Amino acid sequence: MASFTLEEIEKATGASLLQKGEDAFVEGVSTDTRTISRGELFIALIGENFNGHEFLKRAVLSGASAVMISDASYGKDIDAHVSVFLVKDTKKGLEDLAHFHRMRFQVPVIGVTGSNGKTTTKDMITSILRTRFHVTATEKNFNNEIGLSMTLLSMTAETEVCVVEMGMRGFGQIAELCAIASPTMGVVTNVGTSHIGILGSQDNIAKAKKELIDALPADGTAILNGDDERVSVMGKGFAGRIVRYGMNGRYTVRGSDVRFEEEDTRYTCTCFDEAFKVKLHLLGIHNVYDALAATAAARVLGVDTGKIQKALGEFRPADQRQSVVNIGGITVLDDSYNANPLSMEMAFRSAKQIAGNHYFLVLGDMGELGRFEEKLHYETGVKAGKIGFDGLITVGPLSRFLAKGAEEAGMKTVMTCDTCEEAAEKLMKMAAPGDVVLVKGSHYMHMERIPAVLRGEK
Ligand code: ATP
Ligand code: MG
Repeated sequence: MASFTLEEIEKATGASLLQKGEDAFVEGVSTDTRTISRGELFIALIGENFNGHEFLKRAVLSGASAVMISDASYGKDIDAHVSVFLVKDTKKGLEDLAHFHRMRFQVPVIGVTGSNGKTTTKDMITSILRTRFHVTATEKNFNNEIGLSMTLLSMTAETEVCVVEMGMRGFGQIAELCAIASPTMGVVTNVGTSHIGILGSQDNIAKAKKELIDALPADGTAILNGDDERVSVMGKGFAGRIVRYGMNGRYTVRGSDVRFEEEDTRYTCTCFDEAFKVKLHLLGIHNVYDALAATAAARVLGVDTGKIQKALGEFRPADQRQSVVNIGGITVLDDSYNANPLSMEMAFRSAKQIAGNHYFLVLGDMGELGRFEEKLHYETGVKAGKIGFDGLITVGPLSRFLAKGAEEAGMKTVMTCDTCEEAAEKLMKMAAPGDVVLVKGSHYMHMERIPAVLRGEK
């Protein structure tokens, strides 16, 4: 747990101490009064739907020994035993403290970004590194400034490596995350079309992700997907070490002889001229890419290939990221966690790798594609049609364009629905035991309702 003296808080954040309380230091930082512990610093963040300043009393009752605020009017009648810090922006205050704490440790900090596969790659890196090191890592998908700051604040004297996921929606956001985390290693998985609505083009998305490489020190390491041309060129002009991975070239870390067997993917990994076989309990070539990125990062930090092989073999994905479930004899590939055009295409290919009689798709809308949304849905439909499925059921207004694309590419059975319940009903009439169904859509579409209805849950 990160502790700070009152002077350190002032120094790290530029805060002014409006009121000096009883304790000379705080032990831990919290932004949530539901989980705050005694002796912690409570930072009153202001979100879209809440104002942390409204919870100051509760924070003090729960034992906070200091609070950080940006609205001085809330600082007047706070119990005298509690220290009160005033900053311009409490979110910046949290970030500054997180950075101050991170700089206490001379350990590698690995930043992972990319359009797809950040969480999977981060989790794979963490699983491998944990065979040898004490690792502090981003929990779940907490990849914004607040999640990153809280992750860094959980570093302790025991931490030997820190692994953080970095998400972004626009320019400058990865740079901001890097200013907090000071990464020494950067992993870029790929450049797709997520958030193209905000950034306008794939080249702009690439520029935004390159901010991670630009932030690395000269003795840092860039781990780059060599098969993604927009990622591969990010090494240009970088003075540090570059390790490229991929399938289609003589990269430092590469995969070959990829074979799919039921629910597993097997391949040969050649890593710095050492070759070994890997069995992943995951489907699809994209997971091989994530595993290669993780292999590269772990090998650079000195983990031997035997440990890498074992950790990857034991790796299991986070919920609803392509878990394969059997519901009444139907194999459901549940990828309802999220979707964008690149991950849709990857998932189509994964679904076709499962042995089955007939193959069906139940697909929901993909969000955040801005003015490209109709075109990208249509093109995704064309891809589905070309890859070849026996039927498609769509949910939501945008997916109607996907349905149109699939039909025009020759798919015979295509149905459009407004709700998951309606889609599940249609699916139950269409699919039989022995068939394979891929369920996927953006998070807000709640496509996890489909397997739930199939299981008979309300
Ligand atoms: P988010 O932006 O929501 O944080 P993420 O980048 O962390 O997403 P994951 O959660 O790891 O990505 O994976 C989400 C989905 O993306 C997976 O279920 C899979 O369909 C797809 N995916 C994972 N890795 C890759 C990859 N390397 N290339 C393409 N698609 C991928
Ligand atoms: Mg993620």
